[in-house]
Amino acid sequence: MYDFRSDTVTKPDEAMRQAIYQADVGDDVYGEDKTTRALEQKVASLLGKEDAVFVSSGTQSNLIAMLTHGQRGDEVISGDAYHVLRYEAGGLAALGGLVPCPLPVTDKGSLHGDDIRNAVKDDDGHFPVSRLLCLENTHNGLVQSVTDLITLCAIAKDNGLACHLDGARLMNAVIASNQSAEDFAQPFDSVSLCLSKGLGAPAGSVLAGNVSFITKARRLRKMVGGGMRQAGILAAAGLYALTHNVERLRDDHRNATLLAERLSEIKGVSIDHDKVQTNMVYLELDDSLSHDVKASLPEQLYAKGFHISSAKSAFRLVVHKDIPEQAISGFAQAIKSCL
Ligand SMILES: *Cc1c(COP(=O)(O)O)cnc(C)c1O
Repeated sequence: MYDFRSDTVTKPDEAMRQAIYQADVGDDVYGEDKTTRALEQKVASLLGKEDAVFVSSGTQSNLIAMLTHGQRGDEVISGDAYHVLRYEAGGLAALGGLVPCPLPVTDKGSLHGDDIRNAVKDDDGHFPVSRLLCLENTHNGLVQSVTDLITLCAIAKDNGLACHLDGARLMNAVIASNQSAEDFAQPFDSVSLCLSKGLGAPAGSVLAGNVSFITKARRLRKMVGGGMRQAGILAAAGLYALTHNVERLRDDHRNATLLAERLSEIKGVSIDHDKVQTNMVYLELDDSLSHDVKASLPEQLYAKGFHISSAKSAFRLVVHKDIPEQAISGFAQAIKSCL
């Protein structure tokens, strides 16, 4: 079975399991887990920030970041299709009392600078206090350029906002461009990085920022139940991932391009090649195909050994380390036969 639903399905391989097995651990809430501390320091230095904190998930990382930057009644400006507003169960509002301000996301995955400027509220008792801009990189597999990020963050800063980057798949952006993680992180006050996506660790994210930000974030991590004890068991997998699984994201990107090419040879399929920049391919089916064919595609593919998510419009196909190059042609062939 090849699973194209997400890069979160990647499983730890033998070498990563060895690293987990051998991890030096202690109680991380007491600050005594050396492996966790090593991971935090590695990510802080990778992102050019003073410090970092290991957390259980990307959602928890973004939540803690938003709670650290703002308080009840403060406003978070972000993209309406970005993870923080769409896929985190409204945590910023439900748990943080923060007010979301959703802006339309461009077809390149970015926000318009003018929309940000217009969204910032005057200092007036009618309004929430605009506090934070939250951007995302990559978004739907699209790389947000360093120049774009600098421009948008400069607008935010001119208006007194802090900036947070949801960099769940930031290392995909790094591999797809010639820019370092530090370059991408530079315009932001805080950055969240997921270890459990294409990097292949079983769980965990890291939130980076300056020392006072991370000190506050640690208290909030405890508050939301994210203080873990012998966390080095997980951090060891993260360290292994950052050492061994970053460069190999290039293979995923190459396989995604290959998949896009194979799929575009199929009648009834259209692929927007400009949007294949990292490890994701969006497959659209022509209107000429019946609704039934579209609706039954995931089920038909499952019977042939390929797992994909169902979709209302385009199907998102995600390539990762547990999908070898040899599986790509077979997958395209299976889609062709389903259609
Ligand atoms: C996956 C993801 C997250 C965090 O997800 P978790 O499942 O909570 O780890 C955050 N932002 C983006 C853009 C993501 O893709």
